[in-house]
Amino acid sequence: MPSDSMPEMMTAIRWHPPAFDIRVESIPVPKIQDPDDAIVKVTLAALCGSDLHVYRGHAGVEKIHTSGHEFIGEVVELGSSYGAHSQGRPELYATLKVGDKVVSPFTVNCGECNVCRMGYTCRCPLGALFGSPALEGGQAQYVRVPKAGGTLFNLSDPKSWHSTLPAEMKQKALAGIADSSLLMLADILPTGVFAALQAMNHPKVLPALSGRPWPASFFPGDASTTVLPEDRVLTFAIIGLGPVGLCACVSLLDMLAAQPLPFQIVAIDPVESRREKAMAVYSKIDQAGKGSGKFITQSIDDAKKTVATWTGGVGCTAVLEIVGNTSAISLAYDLVRPFGAIVSVGVHGEPQMPFTGRQLYNKNVSFDFGRCPARAMFPMAFDLLVKRQDVFGEVGGLDSLVDRIIGPKEAPEIYAAFDKSTIGKAVFDMWK
Ligand SMILES: [Zn+2]
Ligand SMILES: [Zn+2]
Repeated sequence: MPSDSMPEMMTAIRWHPPAFDIRVESIPVPKIQDPDDAIVKVTLAALCGSDLHVYRGHAGVEKIHTSGHEFIGEVVELGSSYGAHSQGRPELYATLKVGDKVVSPFTVNCGECNVCRMGYTCRCPLGALFGSPALEGGQAQYVRVPKAGGTLFNLSDPKSWHSTLPAEMKQKALAGIADSSLLMLADILPTGVFAALQAMNHPKVLPALSGRPWPASFFPGDASTTVLPEDRVLTFAIIGLGPVGLCACVSLLDMLAAQPLPFQIVAIDPVESRREKAMAVYSKIDQAGKGSGKFITQSIDDAKKTVATWTGGVGCTAVLEIVGNTSAISLAYDLVRPFGAIVSVGVHGEPQMPFTGRQLYNKNVSFDFGRCPARAMFPMAFDLLVKRQDVFGEVGGLDSLVDRIIGPKEAPEIYAAFDKSTIGKAVFDMWK
C-alpha cells in the first residue's frame, strides 16, 4: 500500500547521450508497476567503475536513464504479492515490510527459476541491471525494484540469509556498521570475493593446492607425486586497483591466510595513487586476515619482471583481471602460466579480445569471464565486511575504500573526476 507521505517528484542523477553528460533532474517518483515490485527510498547510492562504460558512451546506449546500480535504503511501498498469503515463494515475499532496511544486489533476480536456484543469479532470464536502459537506476531518491522478494536483502531481518557468523555477532555487526559500508554489498565486495573465489577454486589451481600433478589432482589414491614444495607456491596477479580491485585483494588475502601454502601477490595498476591506497589498505589488515605471504603493488612493466623472477619465467598460478579492457586482458594473458587461470570480472566493451585462438591453444589457458552473481555471493561478502571493518568501515583517508559522501548536485564533477581516476569510491547522499 502506498504511503501517504510519498512526494510526486524526486531528484535523480540522469545520463544523457551520447557521452560525458550527467544531469541532476527532477523526475516523477516511481510507482508499483507489478505485484512483485517494491519501492525503496534510497539513503545512499554509489558511483561504480562500470557506470563509466555508459558515461563514456562506450556501451552503445542511447536512452536517457537514471544512473547507478549500487544503493541501500528503506522499503516505502510493496506490491500486492507481499504478505502472509505469499507461500512457496522466496521468503521475502512473506516477510518484507514497509520500513525495512534493504540493500539490493546490482541486478534483479527472481529467485524462482533454474538459473537463480543454481546460484547464477546475475543471469536470471527475468533479470535486469539497475541504471541501464532496461531499468532505472538507484542514484535517485526512490527506486523501483522488480521481483524484490527474490532480489533484495533485508538488513532488518538478518535471519533471512545464511552467515557463518554467530547470530549474536551478526546482529551486533549490523547495528554497528555504517550504511556507507553496507552499501559495498551491492556490488564491489561481492564482485571482489567472486573473483578471488573463482581463482582459488579453479581446477587448474588444484595441482598446487593438493600437491598432486594434473590430472591426479582430481582423484584420491596414489600418494606418489612429482610436485616439489617449490612448485606449490601460489603466485597471483591482480590487475586494476580501483574499488573492486581492492575488494579482490582483501578477499584473496583472507582466503590465502586460511590455507597453509606460501603465496605471493603482485597487485598492479598504472596509477600511483591507487597503488598507494592498496598498500595502505594492506598495511591496515591484521595478520589473521592477510597471512604471511608476500604482497606488493607495482606498475605494469615492473610487475612483468617480478612475476618472471618469482616464478623462474613460468608465470602466475592465476590472474584476477578487474579492469575490463584489452590492455588489461592482454597483460593477464602475458602474466599467467601455461595451464593457468584468468578470472575476469571487468566489463569488456569493444574492441574484440586481443588474442587469437592459436595463442589460447598454445598456453592451455582457462578463462572465467563475467558478471558477479551478487545475490549468491552476498553471504560470503557480508561475513568479510564484518571481519574487515578496519578497511571497509570508514570514509575518507588513504586506507579507506569509500573516499567521500557528497550530495547529488556534485554528480557531474564527481563523474568527471572518477573517469580520470583522480578520486576513489564516491557515494551520493541523495537527500543532501
Ligand atoms: Zn558497481
Ligand atoms: Zn531467476
